[in-house]
Amino acid sequence: MQRPVWPALKRGFAGNCPNCGKGRMFKSYLKVNDNCPVCDTPLHHHRADDAPPYFTLLVACHVIGAAILLDLDFGPALSMLEQTLLFSALAIVLCLTLLPVFKGGLIAYQWALRMHGFEDEPEYPV
Ligand SMILES: [Zn+2]
Repeated sequence: MQRPVWPALKRGFAGNCPNCGKGRMFKSYLKVNDNCPVCDTPLHHHRADDAPPYFTLLVACHVIGAAILLDLDFGPALSMLEQTLLFSALAIVLCLTLLPVFKGGLIAYQWALRMHGFEDEPEYPV
């Protein structure tokens, strides 16, 4: 039986367990807990692989590209060095912020659709 996708996605994007929404999904920056510390839902089955960096770069590059174009057309006259420092810092901050968000969302999506090892898991009480 399929689990509700949208509530799981919201919890996953926030870095919380897709089942209960209270336990933290990550034990460090991108290291996923084997089980939820609150409801004990297994999370180690995930196969996020390269999808979180792919979606992170997809969003970050479009945002940075648009910011560069807007700066060239409407922004203050910045030197090449100022532009390089500004947009490099924006890229780093954006990528480091978005990566755990997308990883949490993808793991929650896999959990909700019972993909990979999540297919045989019983329901854990919330
Ligand atoms: Zn949980």
